[in-house]
Amino acid sequence: MAFDQTERPSIAARLDAELRHAHPVTVLESAVESFGDKLALVSSFGAESAVLLHMISKIRPNLPVLFLDTGMLFGQTLDYRKNLAAKLGLTDVRDLRPAYNDLAVGDPNAKLWQTDTDACCNLRKVLPLDRALVDFDAWITGRKRFHGGDRLSLPVVEQADGQVKFNPLANWAKAELDAYMSEHDLPAHPLVAQGFPSIGCWPCTKPVEEGEDVRAGRWAGQEKTECGIHVARAPGAITNVGGDI
Ligand code: SF4
Repeated sequence: MAFDQTERPSIAARLDAELRHAHPVTVLESAVESFGDKLALVSSFGAESAVLLHMISKIRPNLPVLFLDTGMLFGQTLDYRKNLAAKLGLTDVRDLRPAYNDLAVGDPNAKLWQTDTDACCNLRKVLPLDRALVDFDAWITGRKRFHGGDRLSLPVVEQADGQVKFNPLANWAKAELDAYMSEHDLPAHPLVAQGFPSIGCWPCTKPVEEGEDVRAGRWAGQEKTECGIHVARAPGAITNVGGDI
């Protein structure tokens, strides 16, 4: 099912009003029903990703799952992505990698993260995802309000950059995620047991101390709290670093 881009803000507002107190499975079913093959799920295969991936595997196992393989991920994440996708029977997990020309021009030594994390995230996450999302009208994220920061006011359905975004787990707390993992016997990301409650690229992720915020280990010591894929951009703002893609 495809919606004209001008219809999407009103569709997002209507769905958010309908679904703001709904169970995550109900939100996912509504997303699939509303957007059909124009819907994708974006997953980091991180600390809490198994919950949403398990839910969608029961609803539509061939839904496109977009995984940002930045080239800077922990080896444990790559193993977890492979094993979890196989275990859940997800048949269309797509590995999105940075464009060769973007790396050659913008980060030829793979050290951009040392000097400009925003530029590095743009090249390794934002641009690959923007390019992949051109094929979709709506996408599903795993964000939750309890992660704090800008996520404290997260709606269940929103409109951003001309697309509809579903946040089925927005209302869920850590206890509900843990209970779901346990009830369905889902394997944890191996780094969770080593003190990583939120897992991104290895240069920019640290374990956290007891009582610290879930995302305190992400870009620790910097003001940066988000990689940029959830920051609204101007329409048609997809640009590439290399300039020839
Ligand atoms: Fe680069 Fe760090 Fe962003 Fe990963 S999280 S893309 S290494 S700045």
